[in-house]
Amino acid sequence: MNLKSSVDLNASPAQSPAVFSLEGKTALITGGGAGIGLEIARCMVASGAHVILTGRTEARLKEAVKDLGPLAAYRVNDVTRLETLEDLVNDLETEFGPLDILVNNAGINMKKPALEVSDDDFSHIIDTNLNAVFALTRTCAKRMVARGSGSIIMISSMAAYYGIDRVVAYAASKSGVEGMVKVLASDLSRYNVRVNAVAPGFIETNMMKTAFGSDPDRMNKAMARTPMGKFGKPEDVGWAAVFLASEAAAYITGVSLRVDGGNAIGF
Ligand code: NDP
Repeated sequence: MNLKSSVDLNASPAQSPAVFSLEGKTALITGGGAGIGLEIARCMVASGAHVILTGRTEARLKEAVKDLGPLAAYRVNDVTRLETLEDLVNDLETEFGPLDILVNNAGINMKKPALEVSDDDFSHIIDTNLNAVFALTRTCAKRMVARGSGSIIMISSMAAYYGIDRVVAYAASKSGVEGMVKVLASDLSRYNVRVNAVAPGFIETNMMKTAFGSDPDRMNKAMARTPMGKFGKPEDVGWAAVFLASEAAAYITGVSLRVDGGNAIGF
């Protein structure tokens, strides 16, 4: 599995129409130091945005920012420490200006038969993938509402679309995210704040490596129902996030955009 990005930040500027540009926008991307979050950041930088990455591991964030160049910055932050989120956003807006885009990407998974999942196991996943997503979204959205503009992007999963065995807490968290997208989109539309999700299929990251590493049957099953016959790359999700954050998606809110090679509709 090749985890290397194919997005070249040194390529000559894209000649795409201005509606796809994120020039002048600032994005906060949780879990931006690795995997899908890092490639969302890379695609957003390539589209002209400033990005601020968060995560728990400073060395990884430092490396990511070095790689992404001058449009990127980082803050060490654990999204589950809900009491820190207000100060985080306040500090970032003081230093970098308004956060126009929030990408709730940080997430964790756990593979265990449902009946072996303890209450602590379940809460651990929900704390990161759902409670933190709501708390940070509420904090950022209040400011977006006051400014009359903003775009919020959640990262969902195929686990919210169909019954994948042994990921009960993860599926519950991502199903919660899908519900949250619809309600927030309804509540915030009148303030010109859009709320959407990207629902990745099986994307080549460390999370997928862990899920499939010792389970070739699971990997083969996922591939067999993916009509495109290949797993996704993190930047496939990155470009979808750029689109949803851009003016090209100005009339799109409340959707969950599958980036899955057809996995959800595969037979
Ligand atoms: P990775 O495990 O590769 O990366 C997860 C990122 O989240 C890391 O940067 C990690 O950094 C960060 N993170 C985890 N916990 C926290 C926390 N408490 N606070 C802040 N940051 C945190 O996963 P992926 O890139 O694969 O996943 C990214 C998102 O995409 C997740 O929401 C996942 O559920 C979703 N997804 C992934 C799919 C896939 O096939 N890969 C499929 C469908 C959805 P650190 O550990 O340093 O904090």
